[in-house]
Amino acid sequence: MKLAFVSNDSEKSQGIKDYFQTLCHMGRFEEDDTDPDVVISIGGDGTLLSAFHQYQDRINHVKFAAIHTGHLGFYTDWVAGEAEQLAQSLINDDLVNVSYPLLQLKVVQGERSSRRVRQILCLNEATIKQVTATFICEVFIGDELFETFRGDGLCVSTPTGSTGINKSIGGAVVHPSLNALQLTEFASLNNRVFRTLSSPLIVTQDETITFRPISNGHSTEKLVLTYDNLFESAEELKELSFKVADERIHFLGSKHKRFWNRVSYSFIGPAKGSGHEI
Ligand code: NAP
Ligand code: MN
Repeated sequence: MKLAFVSNDSEKSQGIKDYFQTLCHMGRFEEDDTDPDVVISIGGDGTLLSAFHQYQDRINHVKFAAIHTGHLGFYTDWVAGEAEQLAQSLINDDLVNVSYPLLQLKVVQGERSSRRVRQILCLNEATIKQVTATFICEVFIGDELFETFRGDGLCVSTPTGSTGINKSIGGAVVHPSLNALQLTEFASLNNRVFRTLSSPLIVTQDETITFRPISNGHSTEKLVLTYDNLFESAEELKELSFKVADERIHFLGSKHKRFWNRVSYSFIGPAKGSGHEI
C-alpha cells in the first residue's frame, strides 16, 4: 500500500509522521507522494483541506485518513493516540469507507477574446467577497435569474463545509448524506429598492447556481475568491458557477461516527451522561 503524508509543523504531528515513515522504511508500507493509495493528513481540518487540494486531481484514486493533533476536527476521525491502530487497520484492510459530496466550481475570467475557464473542486466551500464598495451580482438558479444580490459577498458550501464559515454566517448545518449545496449571504443590502432572499437556500445535485458580477463603477472594486483554505484576487471575473461534483471524497475511518454527535460535541460540548463520546 502506497502512503503519502501531509502534516502541519507541530511536534506532535511530526512525531506521528515519523512513526509512519519508520513503518515505510521497515517495508510495511511504501511512501509515494505522487501516486498514493492513501493520504494520511496529520493536524487539523485545515491540514486535511491542504491535503485535499494537493491531491484533488487524483480524487477518484485516493482515500484520506485524517489524524487530529489539535482540538477535535470535523474531518479528522483519528486521535493522535490511535496512530498504531490506524497502521494495523491499513495492513488488515478493515477500515470503514465513507464518502462525502464535493463542490464543482467553474471560474470564467477575461473578456470574450481572452476567456479563461477553470474548474476547481472544493471540499468546504467557495466564497466571493468584495472588500470595498458594494458587491453586485446576478444570481441564477439553472438558467433563470433568481435575484440581484447587493452586499459584501456570497458563499456556496458543501454539506461537510456547512459547519465551517457557512455556519458562522447563519447557514444551516446539513447532513453529509444529502447531495446538496447551500447558498448563504455576507451582509446583504436590503431596503425598499434592493432585495435579496436574505436566508440560506439549499439546492440539490440537479441544479446549478451561477453568479454574474456586475461592476459597481468604483475604481477601487476588488473581488476576492476563496475556496476552502485558499484564496486569490479574482481579476476580470465574469462568472462563477457551482454544482455538486461528480467526484466525491473518500475517507477511511475506524467506525461510523454519527454526524450529529460530532456537531453537538464540537459546538455545544459533551453533555454530562449523554454518552456523546466520539
Ligand atoms: P482556519 O482559519 O484555521 O479555519 C477556521 C476554523 O474552521 C478552524 O478552527 C478550522 O479547524 C475550522 N474548520 C475548517 N473546516 C471546517 C469544517 N468543515 N467544519 C467545521 N470547522 C471547520 O483556516 P483553515 O484551517 O485553512 O480552514 C479553512 C476553512 O475555515 C474555510 O473553508 C472555512 O470554512 C473556515 N473559516 C471559517 C471562518 C469563520 O467561521 N468565520 C472564517 C474563515 C474560514 P482547524 O483548526 O482544525 O483547522
Ligand atoms: Mn486551521
